[in-house]
Amino acid sequence: MGPGVAGRAKDLVGKPPTLDDGRPGGFYLTRFRNLAEKHAKFIRGYGFEGGSGSAMFPRGTDTHGFGASFKEEVRKNQGAFIGMGAFGEVLSRYENYVELDPVVKDKWGIPSLRFHYKFGDNEHRMAEDMKETAQEMFEAAGFEIVHVSSRVLTEGWSIHELGTARMGNDPKTSVLNQFEQSHDVKNLFVVDGSAFVNASCQNPTWTIMALCWRSCDYLAEELRKGNL
Ligand SMILES: Cc1cc2nc3c(=O)[nH]c(=O)nc-3n(C[C@H](O)[C@H](O)[C@H](O)COP(=O)(O)OP(=O)(O)OC[C@H]3O[C@@H](n4cnc5c(N)ncnc54)[C@H](O)[C@@H]3O)c2cc1C
Repeated sequence: MGPGVAGRAKDLVGKPPTLDDGRPGGFYLTRFRNLAEKHAKFIRGYGFEGGSGSAMFPRGTDTHGFGASFKEEVRKNQGAFIGMGAFGEVLSRYENYVELDPVVKDKWGIPSLRFHYKFGDNEHRMAEDMKETAQEMFEAAGFEIVHVSSRVLTEGWSIHELGTARMGNDPKTSVLNQFEQSHDVKNLFVVDGSAFVNASCQNPTWTIMALCWRSCDYLAEELRKGNL
């Protein structure tokens, strides 16, 4: 997360605020990189999430003035701002892992988690493309660009709380099989976000639920057969 762009729809400056089509939501641009064509600099991809319209507080990074002139500037531009930021996939890397702290415990005596997590070259090259593409899209749409952000937010900022009991066929490199059943303990199923190997670039909840459903069907069938 981090790279993105903010712009202004010049046609809307100075226009009275309206409800338009009454839809209060933001917008989402689905992943488009490395689907049909291969990008030269990175693998996988990213999506954009954005929003526009009127907000309770002044938006935009170039609202200048003080007192009456500031208020006028805010009113004039109210509803004309649009912005979007990218959400990219971080590749799973062997060097990225968590471990139980041997010393620090929480107040219930459970060991704290220690994170070892760094972005790699693929993520930084992807971030470069996020910034350039966001700009390109806004320019093509005719928006006046007011701010471009190229700063990648620190590791752990964008967190979807997935992984640590990864799914895989090989018990040596994974904890769960494809039905989220523990390789080591056959009557243990972990039907949450822990099974993910990485977080892709999408929101994960529907996939967590779909996997859980599939695992529960399997669990019920195994139970019926007397295998558990
Ligand atoms: C800020 C933020 C925004 C997000 N936005 C979205 C979004 O828009 N769309 C989307 O799809 N996903 C979103 N996610 C991701 C999504 O919420 C998580 O991936 C998902 O909740 C993970 O589900 P889970 O069941 O694996 O874990 P969790 O939902 O974290 O559930 C774990 C549960 O275990 C409990 N627990 C922990 N330790 C113990 C213990 N020792 N004993 C008993 N209970 C314990 C916790 O209290 C918690 O209730 C977002 C996440 C964050 C942090």
